[in-house]
Amino acid sequence: MDTSTLILIGLVTVVLIPWSLWKWSDHRKNKLGQTLHRDIAALGDDVVPISLHPEVKLETCIGSGACTRACPEHEVLMLVDGHAKLVNPLSCVGHGECLRACPVGAISLVFGTATRGVELPRVNTNFETSQQGIYIVGELGGMGLIRNAIEQGRQAAMAIIKAGRRSVVADYDAIVVGAGPAGISASLALISHGMRIQIVEQGLYGGTIRHYPRAKIVMSGNLDFPGYGKVRRQTMSKEDLVELWDDIRERMQFPVREGEKIERIAKTDAGWAVSSAGWNSTAPNVILALGRRGAPRELGIPGEELNKVHYRVIEPEPFADKHVLIIGGGNAAADCAIALADAGASKSISISYRKQEFMRMRLSVRQRLMTLIEGGQVNAYLGTEPVSIAETTVTLKGNKGEFALVNDAVIVQIGGTLPNDLLRSVGIELVEKFAEA
Ligand SMILES: Cc1cc2nc3c(=O)[nH]c(=O)nc-3n(C[C@H](O)[C@H](O)[C@H](O)COP(=O)(O)OP(=O)(O)OC[C@H]3O[C@@H](n4cnc5c(N)ncnc54)[C@H](O)[C@@H]3O)c2cc1C
Ligand code: SF4
Repeated sequence: MDTSTLILIGLVTVVLIPWSLWKWSDHRKNKLGQTLHRDIAALGDDVVPISLHPEVKLETCIGSGACTRACPEHEVLMLVDGHAKLVNPLSCVGHGECLRACPVGAISLVFGTATRGVELPRVNTNFETSQQGIYIVGELGGMGLIRNAIEQGRQAAMAIIKAGRRSVVADYDAIVVGAGPAGISASLALISHGMRIQIVEQGLYGGTIRHYPRAKIVMSGNLDFPGYGKVRRQTMSKEDLVELWDDIRERMQFPVREGEKIERIAKTDAGWAVSSAGWNSTAPNVILALGRRGAPRELGIPGEELNKVHYRVIEPEPFADKHVLIIGGGNAAADCAIALADAGASKSISISYRKQEFMRMRLSVRQRLMTLIEGGQVNAYLGTEPVSIAETTVTLKGNKGEFALVNDAVIVQIGGTLPNDLLRSVGIELVEKFAEA
């Protein structure tokens, strides 16, 4: 082989093959981005990220792709026809790495969209609301991320300590509502300054993190917990983080009441009276660290109190060997059905939806669900509503009357309620943001 042939082979191996592979992968990503973008567009105005998220100025974007590479989440931002697009807004958690990575400043972080506003509580620099003594920290204030929640919780607690607002007539010096990162950090700061506190949580101690998918790698950044210490790790698994929360709880002897959903906060002579259905206490300071995921909406039918009724699915294992009924017609309901079908261990999977067609779900999710229904892996009861739940059955009502299904587990996926009504009832001022910072 002569030298020029060898140079040609070298060129093809070193330059042409990697270049073609790169172009092919770019083309594939662009196609995927187009599909995801169309998919989201089909849902229209319904898709509003819950916290700060990127808005891309198309006229400035040069399509460098720096933001898509910098984003730590999966397929949230993608290049579509040469421009960055937010193809999966609901998975954006507001890291802001995209903004920092963009070389031409085409990205800004905003709340809400141009057509759908997001209502946020107005707070001062100490996170105190328009009601003296009530503070809002963490994602409920609009700012996502664990480290922001921890820092805001600490700052609000320090403001309470500085203000010296304590009471001899109230049950506690402060009540912290919500045991996610913001509530945990606020509680740590208050306890380490000798404040008498109570933490109340509607679900389980730990907050949204408890509901992350198994083994999710969490971009936590360095975390600084008042009175507990620093955690110097950029990332950790969901399980490591849950272990850390549990260690904090044990070492600091946190007074947590789990399973108490706060429904009312009212002014009294002893400060603020904070109440759930079965609990009531007073304090001059209240820290609301409720997050923005809301409380799961309930069906309000007989039998809903049974242990077999679930509102979240983290893993499919508990539903193995069971006849499962999913109630709802959105993405969350479909995702549950798909996850259980993929696991392949349930005795039967059924889905009941009050409308005649699945309309409120992303195109790709709908297609996957329809394939499972057509293949007989999921039974669809369209145009039906649950009437009552018993130990071994669920009664549904359709246009031909009532009928019972054999059932071991019910998963309710009919959305959630944001705590804005609670905030309004206390007189906390809210502002609506339309694609603004
Ligand atoms: C899938 C996913 C991945 C994420 N990945 C990351 C990541 O890698 N890095 C990162 O920094 N952030 C990530 N986030 C965002 C992060 O989880 C949140 O920003 C953070 O948990 C907010 O903390 P918080 O304390 O404000 O609220 P939450 O963690 O949501 O906690 C609020 C708590 O309040 C409770 N509560 C609500 N209402 C009431 C009531 N009325 N009465 C009593 N209790 C109530 C809730 O049950 C909940 O436990 C992710 C989010 C999701 C969903
Ligand atoms: S804000 Fe974060 S999650 Fe959202 S697109 Fe940017 S880097 Fe990704």
